[in-house]
Amino acid sequence: MDFDHYTDCTVQLAVDLANGGAADGGARDSGAPTHDGLETVAALRTLLREHEVSHPGKIGRQDVAEVRALRSRLRAVWQAGTAEEAANLVNAMLAQSQALPQLTDHDGDAWHLHFTPTSAPLAMRLQAEAGMALAGVLRADGFARLRTCASDTCSDIFVDASRNRSRRYCDPDTCANRVNVAAHRARQRADD
Ligand SMILES: [Zn+2]
Ligand SMILES: [Zn+2]
Repeated sequence: MDFDHYTDCTVQLAVDLANGGAADGGARDSGAPTHDGLETVAALRTLLREHEVSHPGKIGRQDVAEVRALRSRLRAVWQAGTAEEAANLVNAMLAQSQALPQLTDHDGDAWHLHFTPTSAPLAMRLQAEAGMALAGVLRADGFARLRTCASDTCSDIFVDASRNRSRRYCDPDTCANRVNVAAHRARQRADD
């Protein structure tokens, strides 16, 4: 897949948000999202810093609540039944956030696009960014790239960027490995 760097980063932000916020806490129960790493203002600040979101501004409890609500909208795109349904959801996200692409080279960065003014509420800014990133994936690579982890105990979503569209797990080091270990143990039990 050939995302430009900026879009690529924003796709990852959308994925991390939809998966619950900050890095995986470890415990996994069924249901979505698998963990909740977005319960406090501090957790939201950390997420924004990790994804280099510029001009985060003053963040309050209201922002946390609004960004938490955005997560289910993002997951709905992955869980859509058809490409058309996914496209409609992304279009609704963009329309509601009043996305308006504007070139900027703030803080010495290379020219890039912002989709909302920095004065817009944080959740609307993230919704516009994530909407544009998902629009890019749907346009360039197709709905089939939006996948949910194949592990029984994980409901994380991811974008399958593999050449032959064969990726099954959100994380090869955790989920795929855990499934392999479980299968190995099951084979051992069967042999006993
Ligand atoms: Zn920027
Ligand atoms: Zn997983």
